[in-house]
Amino acid sequence: MDHFLYRDGTLHAEDVPLSEIAAEVGTPFYVYSTATLLRHYTLFDEALEGTDHLVCYAMKAASNQAILKTLAEAGAGMDVVSQGEYLRARAAGVPGDRIVFSGVGKTAAEMRTALEGGIRQFNVESEPEMQALSAVASEMGRIAPITIRINPDVDAKTHAKIATGKSENKFGIPISRARQVYALAASLPGLEVIGIDVHIGSQLTELAPFEAAYLKVAELTETLRADGHDIRRLDLGGGLGIPYTRSNEAPPLPLEYGVLIKRTVGHLGCEIEIEPGRLIAGNAGLLVTGVIYVKSGEDRDFLIVDGAMNDLIRPAMYEAHHDIIPVTEPAPGTEHATYDIVGPVCETGDTFARQRAMPPVAAGDLIAFRSAGAYGAVMASEYNTRPLVPEVMVNGDQFAVIRRRPTFDEILKRDTIPAWL
Ligand SMILES: *Cc1c(COP(=O)(O)O)cnc(C)c1O
Repeated sequence: MDHFLYRDGTLHAEDVPLSEIAAEVGTPFYVYSTATLLRHYTLFDEALEGTDHLVCYAMKAASNQAILKTLAEAGAGMDVVSQGEYLRARAAGVPGDRIVFSGVGKTAAEMRTALEGGIRQFNVESEPEMQALSAVASEMGRIAPITIRINPDVDAKTHAKIATGKSENKFGIPISRARQVYALAASLPGLEVIGIDVHIGSQLTELAPFEAAYLKVAELTETLRADGHDIRRLDLGGGLGIPYTRSNEAPPLPLEYGVLIKRTVGHLGCEIEIEPGRLIAGNAGLLVTGVIYVKSGEDRDFLIVDGAMNDLIRPAMYEAHHDIIPVTEPAPGTEHATYDIVGPVCETGDTFARQRAMPPVAAGDLIAFRSAGAYGAVMASEYNTRPLVPEVMVNGDQFAVIRRRPTFDEILKRDTIPAWL
């Protein structure tokens, strides 16, 4: 469920008509619904009710500080994967003890920043990283709390670019070597081993891969405890998928996911962390774009819109589907037209949809891409020198620009001409 509905013939974000935002901000723009963000966070929080837990929003999905602050005020922690994300989370008011640091390539500078500013734990992914972290922490006179990310060799059955839990992926340490690696970690002076971490991929549409992974984590918990490690926290990662089409997809609900967690690892008495990103932000955001031209080709009609692959790269990068709807509500019984929906960028990859049936629209109309809240604005670029797409947040009948569109002047001034020219 989200809060983007037609009312009085026009698509609204909560109580704000999208046409009103478009008139003020121009197109394209992203718009997020506060109520939807909070609803999704709360679904996870309630799914783990009765267990000691923290929902750490994977902020790489959508990292505007307004989104982070909204979720943090509701009680969320953050999962960060870079120094920049760490600083963003802190700037949004998230306390260090609610931030977990994930990622396969943390640098010494990133470790230092997090240790200085406060950190809940590092999710460590390799022996060299472990040694580097221990050295950095020792140098600072600190002890770094860590979990070790294990790679359970489970097929997440998702798009290859976002599957992370198979042995051929770059993530984590093989579960077969876990005892050895934990023993090494325990021997390093700058580290305190507190738990186990796992994250097998993104956009999972069934629970079975989670179950396979979490059963392995449960077994490993017992083994490591027998080896003398005080395993008291399990970070179970993110990855629960969302419906990208209204019609036929029905991924598992957070509640069912919570039941699975309690069944597989609940008996261990560990504190549970989860790191959902996509399910919190994905259906809480739209990309709104204007139709520039309707162009008739030899055998098809093209809808040329002012949003492009630099604003939303998911279709080009992951062959992703986004439902696309007109902002003006079509009259009941309107016959669908068929379009190839494309942006103005100079490559064929700039195609959002092929042969898409939708209500007919004309030049000047607004259309909205659904489910664009996660891995949308954060992956935007200025390719073709198109200004970075702005972001807007709605809360009830209010809206605010939370990242404005840069001016061309600002963009041009970022380049520096070398002295010899
Ligand atoms: C990307 C990522 C997540 C979030 O995945 P979603 O599919 O957005 O829920 C969580 N944890 C880690 C370590 C990640 O890399």
